[in-house]
Formats: sequence, C-alpha cells, structure tokens
Amino acid sequence: MKMISTEKVAKATNVIQACKPSLIAQPKPRSPKVVCAKLGKGMSGMYLAGPLIIMNSRYFEGDEKLEDPKWLSILAHEMEHMRQGPIYAYSVIGELEAWQAGWRVLEAHGHPLTPAQLEIMALPVKMERTLLKHAQQLMEAYAGKAYGIKNRPLYPAYLELLVWLGLKS
Ligand SMILES: [Zn+2]
Repeated sequence: MKMISTEKVAKATNVIQACKPSLIAQPKPRSPKVVCAKLGKGMSGMYLAGPLIIMNSRYFEGDEKLEDPKWLSILAHEMEHMRQGPIYAYSVIGELEAWQAGWRVLEAHGHPLTPAQLEIMALPVKMERTLLKHAQQLMEAYAGKAYGIKNRPLYPAYLELLVWLGLKS
C-alpha cells in the first residue's frame, strides 16, 4: 500500500473544486487521504471510511495520474462519497450524486459525455422513489448488472428504515 503525497492530493482537490461538481464544492471540500492498493479488477477507486480513499494499483501506477482528467473524475466521485459518509454512499441516491460529480469534472475538462451519460447527468437528485428507481435502471443499463446498483437501497439505510416503519414514503 502506497500513500499519495498530500501536496498532490491538495492540488487535485483544488482542480476538482474549480470544476464545481455541485455538492463537494460547497463550502470547501475536505482533502482526502489517498492510498494506492490492489482492488478488484473492475474497480478504479473506492471510498472506505473517514477521509480514506483507495485507488486501484492495478491501473493507478503513479502520483502523476492525479493530473489525468479520468483519474480526477474518479477522485471526485470518491470525494463525493466521502462527503456523504459510508451509509449514505451505499444507496442509489449516493451513487447518483457521485456519478454526476465525477462526470462534471470530465465535462469541465472538455470530455464530451455520451447520450447515456447525459441522460443520467440530467436527473434531479431528489429523495423520490420513482425518480431513483428510474435512475437505478439507467445506471444498470450503463454499468451492467455486475456493478450491483440493483442491490443498493434507493435511500440511505436509515431513511429506508423510516419507510419500512411507515413514517416516510
Ligand atoms: Zn460510487
């Protein structure tokens, strides 16, 4: 496991913030601790807990990767999960916010998004079951069944509990 230098991460955080990926830009995003470690084959990065973000060492070979918009986009995605916290992150709404944050960074770097990505980008982020079910379908069509978005609750677990108790719809 290798730690990415705090200077490099702080620089990347500033670039990401300048792209205004909605939520993580306000007020100022907390700089994460980024480490490089071996993750599963299909994964680029992962948010663990606290300020810890892991980049997959299978693909992330050196600090200079943090200047590449693709990796900045992945970092923005994981920083959005960091802002959310692990329970909120493990939900469809959490992923939707993180996907939008990551892709906004790509857009800001002049990468055109595909029609499928634009459709997901255009979705409003709201605690609404029909909307989030629709988002879940689009996300599965984009990422494939193996991504497992269908296994995630639409709302964060503590809100799903309120739904289950009949206190929320
Ligand atoms: Zn995610």
